Amino acid sequence: MSTKAIFAAVIPAAGSGTRFGGDKLLAGIGGQSVLQRSVGLFARRDDVAQVVVVTAAARFAAYRDLLAAVISAERLCLVEGGRERWESVVNGLAAVYPEIPYVAVHDAARPLTPPDVIAAAFAGAVAVGGAVPVLVEPATLKRLGADNLVTETVDRAGLYQAQTPQCFDRAALLAAYRELLAAGRIAGVTDDTQVFERTGRKVLGTRGSSLNLKITTTPDVALAEALLHVAQGR
Ligand code: C5P
Repeated sequence: MSTKAIFAAVIPAAGSGTRFGGDKLLAGIGGQSVLQRSVGLFARRDDVAQVVVVTAAARFAAYRDLLAAVISAERLCLVEGGRERWESVVNGLAAVYPEIPYVAVHDAARPLTPPDVIAAAFAGAVAVGGAVPVLVEPATLKRLGADNLVTETVDRAGLYQAQTPQCFDRAALLAAYRELLAAGRIAGVTDDTQVFERTGRKVLGTRGSSLNLKITTTPDVALAEALLHVAQGR
């Protein structure tokens, strides 16, 4: 391992994708699948020693074949996922080489993260112990009641959308997960920053990007294709 390679990427990819017909990670964007792109974001960096992809065991062989185009077998690790996203992340963290001091947890469904967004989150984790890419929320936000009637306009001041990669000191993230699990306070956790928040650890908001799309529904694939053209034109 090079002395520069202080990060491991953990890529949770074990979601059922119920809002998308079929395996969205196999959808093609500009000649590469979503999964190849999201793994490639980290595989091409010389500060990343290892990429851990978390998925169902039934997909290991197919994903290993697919990913051979973007990462060497020695740097790739495939790990079985869990029922909830946090369980998948905990399984992935357990597979990170213990000598790697920092981890980046990145949604497999975000294939277009700009390199400067990754670099800023990495730097934030090294400086503060935790970092999350954020984007200013441009919309006026409404809270609706059960009957779909608007009850309130939410004050937008200080509100940001959270993206990934969320990056952390590896030992601190493991400790934070252990503390939440031991206290029975893991329910409702949907991202890793919440694990730091709930255990009183600091997380720095770093530069996010509107190019950092999370593919959720089928039209998002066409949107990603368009964003790729924008990104390539920059
Ligand atoms: O469900 P959501 O869209 O928030 O999932 C975000 C990421 O977490 C996706 O890449 C998905 O594959 C992954 N995930 C997972 N294990 C689960 C649920 C989601 O790895 N049990």
